[in-house]
Amino acid sequence: MTKILVIEDEDSVRENLLELLELECFEAIAAENGRRGVQLAQEELPDLILCDVSMPELDGFSVLEQLRQSPRTAGIPLIFLTARSAPHDFRQGMRLGADDYLTKPFSQDDLLAAIATRLAKHAAITQPYIQVLQSITAEFSERLNYDPVTCLPTRLLLQEKFNQIRANQALTPILSLKIDHFDALCFCSDYTEDDLLRVITQRLLACLDMDDFLARLSDDQFVILLTNIKHRQSIHAICQQILVLLSQPFQLEQQDVFLTLSIGIALYPEHGPELNGLMHKANLVMHHVQQQGGNQYRFYTASVNPLQVERLALEASLRSALENAEFQVYYQPQLDLQTGKVLGAEALLRWHNRERGMVCPADFIPLAEESGLINPIGEWVLQTACQQTQRLRERGFPTLRIAVNLSGQQFSQSHLVQTISQILKITHLDPTALELELTETTLLQNQSEAISTLNDLKKLGIQIAIDDFGTGYASLSYLKQFPFDTLKIDRCFIHNVHSESYNNAITMAVLQMSQRLNLQVIAEGVEIPAELEFLQNHGCQTMQGFLFSRPLPVAEYEVLLAEGRGLFPLEVA
Ligand code: C2E
Ligand code: CA
Ligand code: CA
Repeated sequence: MTKILVIEDEDSVRENLLELLELECFEAIAAENGRRGVQLAQEELPDLILCDVSMPELDGFSVLEQLRQSPRTAGIPLIFLTARSAPHDFRQGMRLGADDYLTKPFSQDDLLAAIATRLAKHAAITQPYIQVLQSITAEFSERLNYDPVTCLPTRLLLQEKFNQIRANQALTPILSLKIDHFDALCFCSDYTEDDLLRVITQRLLACLDMDDFLARLSDDQFVILLTNIKHRQSIHAICQQILVLLSQPFQLEQQDVFLTLSIGIALYPEHGPELNGLMHKANLVMHHVQQQGGNQYRFYTASVNPLQVERLALEASLRSALENAEFQVYYQPQLDLQTGKVLGAEALLRWHNRERGMVCPADFIPLAEESGLINPIGEWVLQTACQQTQRLRERGFPTLRIAVNLSGQQFSQSHLVQTISQILKITHLDPTALELELTETTLLQNQSEAISTLNDLKKLGIQIAIDDFGTGYASLSYLKQFPFDTLKIDRCFIHNVHSESYNNAITMAVLQMSQRLNLQVIAEGVEIPAELEFLQNHGCQTMQGFLFSRPLPVAEYEVLLAEGRGLFPLEVA
């Protein structure tokens, strides 16, 4: 209803006007003086104002002036009502922006005609703006409700749809779907994440009925609400169909892409009445399926291991750790046992999580490997370590080296050599200053590919070290087919190497063999002076360990370098 504000100090005139307006089906409100009129206009935002000119407190001109100053009220059409008819009054009113000027006495028809004209004019002016505003609002809610990449509904429409479906059918299955190793997949293929998501969406839709509901929840996570389901058997059939269809290779331009997904299923009402609880259960099973290797579907059961819950939570926070800048590279100095000087350092990843505090690599690296997150994380470590080492080299330590750990997953990426040479280029680090640490197990996973990758890395000038040497089952002669430069004797063999006969025998053998094969040896985990002394006496070239230094944040590492700290004062002590 159109709302009209009457500002008039004379009671009888005000009352008459109100009565007339109400008879004409307007919503009429009134103020008995100018000050109250301004206040009411701001509170009520009427569609039109009828305002007397001569009033005590605040006259009509001042009312108009004040209204025009506030953006909320500036556009409200205003008609002056006055007994004065002097031309200069009229001009002043118009100059201030009044829309019309009625001189008392006026007839009802005059008044209603003036109101109608004003309202029509105002509508003609504001209508286009209102339309623009409406279309912006519509576009905005469209954007919130529909994912621009896949055009699928987002989580915002899920609840509404769930309510609708639940009202019409006895059994509503909720399927939580996630692509297995999606990050790794995007990293390895030439296609963008968006390309992949679009083709995945096409295939999922092909498995569903018109009435079923498919939404994209986040990166590579989808949800399906199935309709017209009478028996569990039909859910099995649909899930099998999805798995089969999704596992067919995707042909994107020149490249075949293979992918699988994991599905967790919760049932309304069997597993709960509310969407949130059901989604939580479906997600839980879905993650469980992924941890078992993926490419499967499973129904929720109460027996989903509670330990999984903690793992899932850890994985979720690991996922956001890169974005939230929760990682840091620490540096553990490596020293030349002859000169006692720092040669460089091993880069070791640290995760400071807001809720969990410091999480040690042993607790999250395996999880990062399983979830594919190790690829972006490992790339970040490489880039950061190379960049910070290069900065230190430029600040007065020009021969400094850096050793970076590479996980099995990272090593088997098709882009690895390219990625590393790119990082070296960007950071300007001399490739001969970089050493990559790989374990025996990593090398043995795919031997012929490993040899060719190692050769490519060596062509760039990069050094290769075999980490944790002795803990795998490969013999040194077998390992020799891989082109590498350095052996790192695992710290379990260094422990009491001077006094424990088993460790002593192993370490001696490794040192003798590597001398013959012309390999460098690094002893890791040196904790006490007696171990150090043993290693020096038996020709080991390099060491790292708590005896000299724990892994340090880059600033502390720089201080240690700047102070020129080395091994020998230690030996004296
Ligand atoms: P690692 O490659 O064998 O690293 C050496 C580990 O021994 C480090 O543990 C280091 O802090 C610890 N250490 C060094 N000196 C001593 C010592 O004297 N005594 C004892 N008891 N320990 C010593 P950290 O930093 O907890 O790392 C554990 C493992 O996590 C590493 O073992 C490595 O396999 C993995 N890791 C760490 N950072 C990365 C990374 O950036 N990428 C990958 N792929 N793996 C990483
Ligand atoms: Ca290492
Ligand atoms: Ca090691």
